[in-house]
Amino acid sequence: MTHTPGIVIVGASGRMGQMLIKTVLDSDKATLVGAVERTGHDWVGQDVGSAMGGQPTGVIVTDDALEAFAKAQAVIDFTAPVATIEFSKIAAQARCVHVIGTTGMTDEEIAALEPAARHAVIVRAGNMSLGVNLLTQLTKKVAAALDEDFDIEVIEAHHHHKVDAPSGTALMLGEAAAEGRGVALKDVSDRGRDGITGARKKGDIGFTAIRGGDIVGEHDVLFAAAGERIVLRHMATDRTIFARGALKAALWGQDKAPGAYDMMDVLGL
Ligand code: NAD
Repeated sequence: MTHTPGIVIVGASGRMGQMLIKTVLDSDKATLVGAVERTGHDWVGQDVGSAMGGQPTGVIVTDDALEAFAKAQAVIDFTAPVATIEFSKIAAQARCVHVIGTTGMTDEEIAALEPAARHAVIVRAGNMSLGVNLLTQLTKKVAAALDEDFDIEVIEAHHHHKVDAPSGTALMLGEAAAEGRGVALKDVSDRGRDGITGARKKGDIGFTAIRGGDIVGEHDVLFAAAGERIVLRHMATDRTIFARGALKAALWGQDKAPGAYDMMDVLGL
């Protein structure tokens, strides 16, 4: 009999999936009750602990999300946008808290989560770490305090497997800077400079993405004016910070009313 909330990890074999499984197994506040992978993935049918190269856990990886979610109180999802939308419908049906770390979602894909949020708790954040969420608040404050003489640039670096750019975190930071300035990010966002771009437009918020090696995630918010610069920086050296944040969100969501939440709500920032 499970006395702590039962958690399902989807995308179990992924970089974050494996970290999440370890985090839930190590926690005394939650129980791992399911692990889901894509149909045809070679982990399906295997014990998730053995598939990860460790001790068996008694949890067999499945491609049947509905069956897995029916036994759970929360689903933690760091997969891909199309998969996340499908999982949101199934999690809502099973009345599970759905914690979404997946990034690279378009506005339309984010809107597609709304029907599910009417029936279940969804916590979605481009970054689940306490440090980055604090950095987001700081960015908003600094942007509000400075005028457009300070050019704002968001510079991020990630490992070479990452498929989306700018990172979800860089966009979160850009949104925070825009909010601090009282503008809409979509009106001032400057992405992907190449060639003869012309001079930088005053008030723009620029993004630069570096990809290489095994960088877990680094973000700088640069405020550059004539004669001075302020740099706010977060460096992630270990993925456990995201997994711990996601588990915290899954537990936090247990007694909340259906709706769409983010890590600021979870952390009370
Ligand atoms: P990854 O490619 O290692 O893992 C993704 C996993 O999802 C894979 O195992 C894949 O098989 C699985 N998957 C895809 N479609 C599926 C489906 N339909 N059903 C079941 N499983 C499916 O990627 P990763 O590095 O673990 O990152 C995953 C996502 O999490 C990315 O969007 C990344 O940017 C994001 N991320 C977010 C945070 C955060 O704090 N929010 C932190 C790190 C990574």
